Amino acid sequence: MAGALETPAGTETAPNPLRDARAQLAEAIQILGLNGGMYEVLATPRREVTVSIPLRRDDGTIEVLLGYRVQHNMSRGPTKGGLRYSPDVNLDEVRALAMWMTWKCALVDIPYGGAKGGITFDPRNYSPQEIERVTRRYTSELMPIIGPMIDIPAPDMGTDEQVMAWMMDTYSVNTGFTVPGVVTGKPVNIGGSLGRANATSRGVSHIALAALAHCGLVPEQTTVAVQGFGKVGSGAALFLWQAGVKVTAISDQYGAISCADGIDVALLKKHVESTGSVVGFAGTEPLADRDDLLYADVDVLIPAATEGVIHGGNASQIKAKLIVEGANGPTTTEADRVLEAAGVFIVPDILANSGGVIVSYFEWVQANQAFWWTEAQVELRLTERMDHAWHRVVNAAAARGMNFRQAATVLAVETVASAHTARGLYP
Ligand code: GLU
Repeated sequence: MAGALETPAGTETAPNPLRDARAQLAEAIQILGLNGGMYEVLATPRREVTVSIPLRRDDGTIEVLLGYRVQHNMSRGPTKGGLRYSPDVNLDEVRALAMWMTWKCALVDIPYGGAKGGITFDPRNYSPQEIERVTRRYTSELMPIIGPMIDIPAPDMGTDEQVMAWMMDTYSVNTGFTVPGVVTGKPVNIGGSLGRANATSRGVSHIALAALAHCGLVPEQTTVAVQGFGKVGSGAALFLWQAGVKVTAISDQYGAISCADGIDVALLKKHVESTGSVVGFAGTEPLADRDDLLYADVDVLIPAATEGVIHGGNASQIKAKLIVEGANGPTTTEADRVLEAAGVFIVPDILANSGGVIVSYFEWVQANQAFWWTEAQVELRLTERMDHAWHRVVNAAAARGMNFRQAATVLAVETVASAHTARGLYP
């Protein structure tokens, strides 16, 4: 672990999520009055693995990809977190995402520490057969350090139910029996949970509606811009539109569209299914640049794409008064300061997008017990847990004069630090 705490690369103009994650942790440690030793324990992942993944391409050539798995903290149970396929994946990013998973699981009181995995490649440039080979080889390289009581992967950017099915199959074949609890976000017919597929987006919209009420905004008179129309953004936009909120701007990787009267999100989903993009949807205007979406004149902004999109260089251009973070780490520490000074209210990722890992936990409980819940039970238990976390954050923020990110991080760090202290340091 030599050098694990050295300053991560990156400057304010080139955001580094690990630097932001550690800055948030340092602030929480200071607010809680914990010592520097506890900061070092929690700033450093307990285990990190880098693997090379030799891939036979369909044309017979060989390519070697790099894969990572970082297990940040194990004080409260096995580690848990997604697996990301993206050309931007690097070890510092995976370390940051793993740390955020620890706080997310602690905040919503599910018995896991955080983990994250990633493979640096763009799955859009590979065939399904190639993606299957990459997934199976990565899984077999990780065999000794994953498992239902060790570390439980799930989908993230660039991965889906099918990738989880291949992981579960590879792990099970090598173990000698079927182990449905080794991953979550699997298809329902092999032990996935009803309600998992849209759990993150359902949670984002649920928390967004709670935040509207908290700010005295009425859904029907509220405008929202959603950045990203993938698994999280498309579902969040749809649920908010169904709740009567006016979704006036949406973007994806190809462009951004807007309509002052509100976008019919159900019809837009059909358009995206047939064309592959939100661009060109009837009745909407294109924005000059995809990133103009961030500066839309709306009440609420939901960044639901990737980390670091709101940074020191653009935070002052944001017009929304409420930001609900669908993505992990979309706002840098410098942007946080600019937005706080401007009176923008931010609902942090570890609260807003925790619906995915909450239902992952339900899936793991069901799979381990081979006893299945109805979709209504899943949804009720999801919203109960999110409401509980929401009220804890609201109360902690009010009691200690903190913003919501500070309050959520402080509650989570306090939970993990107290578990660490109760267990003691071995040897
Ligand atoms: N990738 C999701 C997240 O960032 C879900 C993780 C999980 O279900 O384990 O929260």
